[in-house]
Amino acid sequence: MSVYSGAVFDMAARQFAVIADHLAIPHDERDRLLLPKRAITVSCPIHRDDGTIAVFEGYRVQHHLTMGPTKGGTRFAPSVDIGEVAALAIWMSWKCALVGLPYGGAKGGIRVDPASISKRELEGLSRRYMQEMIPFVGPHTDVMAPDMGTNEQVMAWFMDTYSMYQGRTVTEIVTGKPVSSGGTLGRREATGRGVAYLAKRVLGDLQIAPTTATAVVQGFGNVGSHAAAELHRFGVKVIAVSDHTGALHSAAGLDIPALLRHAAAHGSIAGFSRELQCDPAEVLTLPCDVLVPAAMERVIDADMAAKLQCRVLAEGANGPTTPDADLVLAQRRDQIFVLPDILCNSGGVVVSYFEWVQDLQQLFWEEEEVTRREYHILDRAFDQMVARARKDGISHRTAAMAIGVEKVRAAKQTRGLFP
Ligand code: NAD
Repeated sequence: MSVYSGAVFDMAARQFAVIADHLAIPHDERDRLLLPKRAITVSCPIHRDDGTIAVFEGYRVQHHLTMGPTKGGTRFAPSVDIGEVAALAIWMSWKCALVGLPYGGAKGGIRVDPASISKRELEGLSRRYMQEMIPFVGPHTDVMAPDMGTNEQVMAWFMDTYSMYQGRTVTEIVTGKPVSSGGTLGRREATGRGVAYLAKRVLGDLQIAPTTATAVVQGFGNVGSHAAAELHRFGVKVIAVSDHTGALHSAAGLDIPALLRHAAAHGSIAGFSRELQCDPAEVLTLPCDVLVPAAMERVIDADMAAKLQCRVLAEGANGPTTPDADLVLAQRRDQIFVLPDILCNSGGVVVSYFEWVQDLQQLFWEEEEVTRREYHILDRAFDQMVARARKDGISHRTAAMAIGVEKVRAAKQTRGLFP
């Protein structure tokens, strides 16, 4: 039992055990690789609009500091706890190493439903959280980014709060900022774009033309909406999407540009169409070529894995597929092509890295250059993952994680154990 114990952390630990066994990592080395270096819990008091005071619990977990600063998103959601944040930080470590970024993984969050507080309260909470984190973060220590329930505005408040304490503007303290405040072109779209780009690549390998393909997207926030937009741009018919308010399905294909405009104006897909509404519980099991879970973790368990009817599982969310589901997927005869989360959604942290580099250098790139470099890194990591999976006869997830874990392990070995 540790402070991290819980369903999501146990999942990350179980996945790591598979990798550690595959790589024959000695048992006395495993905890050093798996357990987070630091975990911080803070209380964030704010004035509510009605004059009362409310206190929210905030977390930040920095997994390892071996290869540079830590990097990772900040999640505002009612389910957030220290174990979930630790698991997400661990996955970030393997992801950054897989794609070759000089970072360890981190993650943070506040246990709050952002829909239950006003914009003024959200600003107060965001600023208080960053203020509490100042002793533990920095452009060369730990760099935050958006995740579920946070966005460019929250990042701008984080950056402003940190900068006010430093007495100068420090744009490089967070990524995923608005372009007007030191953000990079292409960051907002980066994660979803990367998901769609890799899915298209797999469709090509499977000799399925995008214009004949169908897709289903769960979650219509930053990742899901941009993945849907890009798939639509490639000519893929997006036949269903869902979010926390419900689901829409059209065999003829949804009007994604109209749905994007609706979601931007109303904050969700609710109210877009009565006729197209369907049962959200059925979305993941609809027959389609590309399935993009882009909402939250552990939505595909063993039962669900047996029922999937897709050709490609493009994991936009972090940790959508449980280890039990992985076992079912491995046994299925139809061999669904899995694009595991740490590769599939890595476009986000890749472009966050570009944003950090640009902020440090105060030299900004065109969007075309950002996207070209993003795709180059995704292609390289994809090739390495597929080659490793073939060579070792292992799943894509095990291959991707093994590459990441190996790199972190090698860095720890060459640096040695201090003192
Ligand atoms: P977001 O808050 O912008 O969007 C989340 C979406 O999921 C919303 O549309 C919400 O309505 C939907 N949702 C919530 N509960 C749902 C449910 N029960 N059924 C269906 N939909 C539901 O968050 P995001 O930034 O898009 O992150 C989504 C996932 O992608 C998370 O797992 C996150 O960790 C991961 N991720 C995000 C980024 C990024 O750059 N934002 C990068 C890598 C991975």
